[in-house]
Amino acid sequence: MIPVSESSVQLTENKTLENSDATSWQSLLKQSHIDAKALLSQLDLPESLLAGMEVGHSLFSLRVPQPYLDRIEKGNPSDPLLRQILPIAEEANLQPGYVTDPLEEKSSNPIPGLIHKYKSRVLLMGSGACAINCRYCFRRHFPYEDNGLSSERMDQIVGYLNQHPEINEVILSGGDPLATPDKRLQLLANKLASVPHLKRLRIHSRLPVVIPQRITDDLVDILASSRLKVIWVLHINHAQEIDTNLIDAVAKLTQKQMIVLNQSVILRGVNNSVKALSDLSERLFDADILPYYLHAFDPIQGASHFDVTDDDVIKLWQSLQKELPGFLLPRLVREIPNRPSKTLLGLQ
Ligand SMILES: *Cc1c(COP(=O)(O)O)cnc(C)c1O
Ligand code: SF4
Repeated sequence: MIPVSESSVQLTENKTLENSDATSWQSLLKQSHIDAKALLSQLDLPESLLAGMEVGHSLFSLRVPQPYLDRIEKGNPSDPLLRQILPIAEEANLQPGYVTDPLEEKSSNPIPGLIHKYKSRVLLMGSGACAINCRYCFRRHFPYEDNGLSSERMDQIVGYLNQHPEINEVILSGGDPLATPDKRLQLLANKLASVPHLKRLRIHSRLPVVIPQRITDDLVDILASSRLKVIWVLHINHAQEIDTNLIDAVAKLTQKQMIVLNQSVILRGVNNSVKALSDLSERLFDADILPYYLHAFDPIQGASHFDVTDDDVIKLWQSLQKELPGFLLPRLVREIPNRPSKTLLGLQ
């Protein structure tokens, strides 16, 4: 259990178990802005990393919640989870060809917060916040502050959906859509369910991975009682991210017939080996999660040290194909601006 240091959080309702769960994830979220020195001492890492951390942190802040920190191996500066969150001096290198908006998403934004690029589904940016700052994320250049979802904006979005019968699925993305309180998600889910031609609600989130406590019983009830079929796409890059807390959280979803998929990004120094990718797929399956996408690296400025070339990732993926059954092989994709779907790589 989480230490009860959250008595300052106001609860107006009775403190049932459910409420104290909800308080836990919110307080873990709040405490995710950890100090660089505290992180080093907690993980038994040398103080010599501090100077680089300060450089990286000044560009995109250090942010990592405790349940994720708990899965990092102490004293190992090459830990694959640590590498995803540790700010380093290389982030200040400006490399030609590495950009701040690789997806050019500014151009298909009919309403702030809504991206309609693919025919039958729209992506809705439900919240500006994330629980963790992944160093390779393109969000490092987008605070997403303009895209908060007020009730007024939800109504605008519902209006848009009603005028577009070709849309049958809404994807909640972010930032992280689960940084929003359950009550707001409930309001949103209800409004979406009122659009007759919508069939599915998909949630793209890393929050249940980094704070499994986010899967509260309330949240599960809200989603399981919706008319819409719920699909989760989690974001896990390495087998070591899957611990028993995450497995238990996912079980709450699959018990309610929700589908749980995963997307990963290929990252140098984290998962760019056949062994890492095959262990990830196997461990996902053990946790009742199916691999969905493996994203080729987008050329994000400040993250070039994670880059794996298309040639290399295609070779890796083809070797992976020899290791795994087809249902454990993620689709290797890249998003190329102005195409009607993601582009599959690696096919012969
Ligand atoms: C990835 C993405 C989707 C979802 O694509 P699927 O192939 O259905 O997973 C939808 N909209 C946008 C803008 C996307 O980037
Ligand atoms: S959007 Fe996803 S990848 Fe980016 S920082 Fe948030 S959790 Fe990490």
